[in-house]
Amino acid sequence: MNKFLTIFFVSLMLGATISYAQTEQTKGSWNNHKAAVVLTYDDALNVHLDNVVPALDAAGMKGTFYVPGNALPLVERMDEWREIAQNGHELGNHTLFHPCDGSLPGREWVSADQDLSAYSFSQLTEEIRVGNVLLKGIDGKDLRTFAYTCGDKSVQDSSFVQAISDWFPAARDVVYRIEKKGEINRMEVGSFVAMNHTGEELIAQVEKVREEGGLLVFLFHGVGGEHNINVSLEAHNQLVEYLQAHEDEIWVAPLVEVAEFF
Ligand SMILES: [Zn+2]
Repeated sequence: MNKFLTIFFVSLMLGATISYAQTEQTKGSWNNHKAAVVLTYDDALNVHLDNVVPALDAAGMKGTFYVPGNALPLVERMDEWREIAQNGHELGNHTLFHPCDGSLPGREWVSADQDLSAYSFSQLTEEIRVGNVLLKGIDGKDLRTFAYTCGDKSVQDSSFVQAISDWFPAARDVVYRIEKKGEINRMEVGSFVAMNHTGEELIAQVEKVREEGGLLVFLFHGVGGEHNINVSLEAHNQLVEYLQAHEDEIWVAPLVEVAEFF
């Protein structure tokens, strides 16, 4: 092989190696961070607008709010939900009427109208589809994630996960799991349900994902009250403070954004 051809091929190979290394590096990171944390808040509570959004905004972080269409604070404070969406927070689909399977143990509280075990399959998928229409009417956006109500993923023993998978880049589950990049089932993203945890306990979860370099999704309901699944405002503030102090390593963003890095 003549000298020039050899140089040409060696340069090609080097070039290929370098670009491969770059791709691996980009693929291996969460928007150039070691780990990712998603803060999700369910059921459109007043405390989300009153307590959570001001704390997140002050820290320069955005969260995902899973809002059921029938939640009173959604109807009564629609302009505020629209405003937080314009400000970078995600309004996620959490159905219209928040149906849960009332036939399961411990679900005595589910009302007849909202009992998923009395739904037909298409009744639920239509409700989820119209949930996207409602939310688009509020925030104007086409892309958002979904959260299973009560973590229920089937109607009449048939899973509806596949039926809705074209409508969402990701869906949040209620099973605890620190997600590993490249191994994520995007329609069943694990989460950590925050309930009565102290700030230290919430931070310990972030420490874990910071060491392992994965994705952790927090699932909050009440923050400083308004729901029986609750954490104190103080614990939530401690978590936000910790995340802010480690923003170089940990990327905090809505699930719809983080899903691009799965
Ligand atoms: Zn819910």
